[in-house]
Order: sequence, then structure tokens, then C-alpha cells
Amino acid sequence: MGGDLSGRGAMQGSPVVTNLSAGAAVAPPALRHPQESAYFGLAAAAAALAWLFLVWIVLLIGWLLIIPLAIIYWLAEQFFRAQLLGNAVRVKEDQFPEIDRMVKEYSARLGLTKTPDVFIVNGEGMVNALAVRRLRGKYILLMSGLVDLLLSTGSFNELGAVLGHELGHHAMGHTSPWRSAFLAPSRLVPFLGAAYSRACELTADRVGMWLAGSKEAAVRGLTALACGSRVLTPQLNLASFLAQERELVGFFAFLNDLSSSHPRITRRVEELDAGEAEVLATRGY
Ligand SMILES: [Zn+2]
Repeated sequence: MGGDLSGRGAMQGSPVVTNLSAGAAVAPPALRHPQESAYFGLAAAAAALAWLFLVWIVLLIGWLLIIPLAIIYWLAEQFFRAQLLGNAVRVKEDQFPEIDRMVKEYSARLGLTKTPDVFIVNGEGMVNALAVRRLRGKYILLMSGLVDLLLSTGSFNELGAVLGHELGHHAMGHTSPWRSAFLAPSRLVPFLGAAYSRACELTADRVGMWLAGSKEAAVRGLTALACGSRVLTPQLNLASFLAQERELVGFFAFLNDLSSSHPRITRRVEELDAGEAEVLATRGY
């Protein structure tokens, strides 16, 4: 094995190297000892068997793991559902019917085969909303603080834009566990996962604007998130808020964004502005 150090190949009158032009060395195939090829064949066959065995073991363990993982996932969903049904308020035909109508209408427009279950959750001051996907069900949780803020204008439009944003996450596949599992290895690339997440948020913002049919409603939904005050949000000066973007130092804004799952709100508002014509032109109803 390895290099020939015996010196026999360099004997005079025995042209081991047939082509020395331009420094390239080509050894004639006849130099290979017949036993090498035979043993290589045996070694390759043994290695192939070992690799097949390894793949079989991995697949076997994989199948054995799938069953307990599926049970754990199913149990987690049951606990999640029990927690919501026992402690939050589910939107239905006879429970907040205006919101229920909106959820059903928007879901149909997005072509969702199953309307997500929407719950109003006591967020204890938190101003947020989120789309959650479990094995069997799709959920949207609307924190009460955000709902109050959005409805403080007396219109359902802002709530519609936020609801549309969360429905957008479901409709665009952002919450799919299969997609998450497929993309999991890409998380090894620094900052790529966060960049993808931020892009998904911009998409969901566009879906919210599309469903609400109004950039203003979508923007007010975002500024409500930024301000968080029920009293001050309706008085918010949008131009002044957007001027804050000009005060940002690019380098630090970039660093701040780098690992954030959501783009900064000033930028989200600008993106809505930039995409308004294109998005609303595709409504067609
Ligand atoms: Zn989102």
C-alpha cells in the first residue's frame, strides 16, 4: 500500500514514466499489480456492504423514532388545544361574529382548505398576534391588548389587516412543519434563517394589505404595534414616525436587523408603501 519506496521503478531501461512532458506523469495501467485490482474489488464490495448496513440502520432507527415523535407531537397539540379552549375565547358564529365572518371570508379568499381556529387570548398587556401550526390544526392567537388597540378606531379594517397578516403566514406555508423540517439544516448558515423569517413577515404584511384592501389599514395595524398605547395610537403622526427611519444610522440598523426575526416597523411601513400599487392591483374583487 502507499508509495513504492523500493526504487525498482526507477531502474535504468525500465521506463516507468512514459510521458514527462510539461511535468505530467502518466503511469501505464500495466504497472498496477494484478493483486491490487483483485483486492480493491474485494475491499469495495466489503465497503459497499458496510455502507448499505449503515443506511439500513439509520433508516431503521428513523422509523423507530417516528412513532414516539408522532405521539409526542400529538400530545403537545392536545395540551395546546386544551389550554386554549379552557383559558382563551374562541371566535365562532356566536362568539364575536364580525371577526368570525372576516376569518371565514379571508380564509376562503386565500384558498385555505380549513379555516384556522382563532382565539382571543388575554395577553396581560402584550400587544401581539401569532399564527401557530400544529400537526392537525392551524391557529391564530390574537392578544386582547392588540385587539383593543386595533378596534379603538371603531373600525374593523385594522384588525382585518392584522388577521390577514396571520392568515397569510398559514396560506403561504410559513407555518408548515414540513417546510421547517426541510429548511432546518439551512439554519447552520449564519443569519440566513433570520433573513428568511424577515422576508416572510414582509410577505404576510402584503397579504394583510391585500385582504384588508387598504394600505392605510395595514399601516395603522403596524403603527399600533409600534406605539402600543390605546390612547396615543389614534393620534400618531405617521410622517413623523416614518422620519425616524432617516435618523437611523445604517450600520447599526443593519446590525440590529441581522439577527431579528421581524424587520423594523418603520421599514415594514415603507415596504407596504412601495408595494401598494402592485398588491392592490391583484385584488380583482
Ligand atoms: Zn408575522
